[in-house]
Amino acid sequence: GDKDAVLTAIDLTAGYGAAPVLQKIKLDVRPGEMVALIGANGAGKSTMMRALSGLLRPVGGEVVLDNQRIEHEPAHMIAVRGLALVPEGRQVFPEMSVYDNLELGANTRRNVDYASEIEALLKRFPRLRDRINSKAGLLSGGEQQMLAIARGMMAKPRILLLDEPSLGLAPAMIQELFDVLADLRDEGITILLVDQMATLALAVADRGYVIDSGQIVREDTAAALASDPEVEAAYLGHV
Ligand code: ATP
Repeated sequence: GDKDAVLTAIDLTAGYGAAPVLQKIKLDVRPGEMVALIGANGAGKSTMMRALSGLLRPVGGEVVLDNQRIEHEPAHMIAVRGLALVPEGRQVFPEMSVYDNLELGANTRRNVDYASEIEALLKRFPRLRDRINSKAGLLSGGEQQMLAIARGMMAKPRILLLDEPSLGLAPAMIQELFDVLADLRDEGITILLVDQMATLALAVADRGYVIDSGQIVREDTAAALASDPEVEAAYLGHV
């Protein structure tokens, strides 16, 4: 593991029954990096996000957040330590307003100046400004995804884990989403990104890992992975 990394997985093994889905995964994310995890359906990407964030208890290996072992900690404690997961499926609270959803994102912190922090966030997510008093459930899919990410940012996390943010979005909205992700990267937010849109993910990321059947089979700069014929043939076909 890299001592300077924000998040490190060392020989991480996890799954749902007798046969582990993830097998001895090694991965790290350094401060200010955006790292993409790419792989086919069922390769184990969501399982990886769940194991890192405490939603799934690993059966072996270590997860280290800011030099603290966290693999035995409950998810809410891991969140307090600064890992914010934006799970697959844009899980906003549909009956609550956009503003109240954003407030909830800061529930791991104390002494939050909601008004000024939300105002600052809305500069990055202008679509949400127009809808700030709407019920979240009335937003479009793309707007709900923006809200889910913005809510994750309200935690002021050490690292943000984004699981399939583009899933189910219209093409124009996917491009807008990746523009937002590029902005977050440029601001130095540390991000681990899983997305089916591998070409777009590698275009925005600094580094990437390829996961196949629960094992990391490639690790390189995002640019090197994006221009690798084998990676392209296996994973970059659908964009
Ligand atoms: P996708 O993009 O299709 O979600 P993924 O790479 O995120 O793919 P995972 O969702 O992590 O893959 O699934 C990895 C494997 O674990 C698959 O074989 C899947 O069937 C299995 N799996 C996922 N969730 C569960 C669960 N709750 N119980 C049992 N098996 C599961």
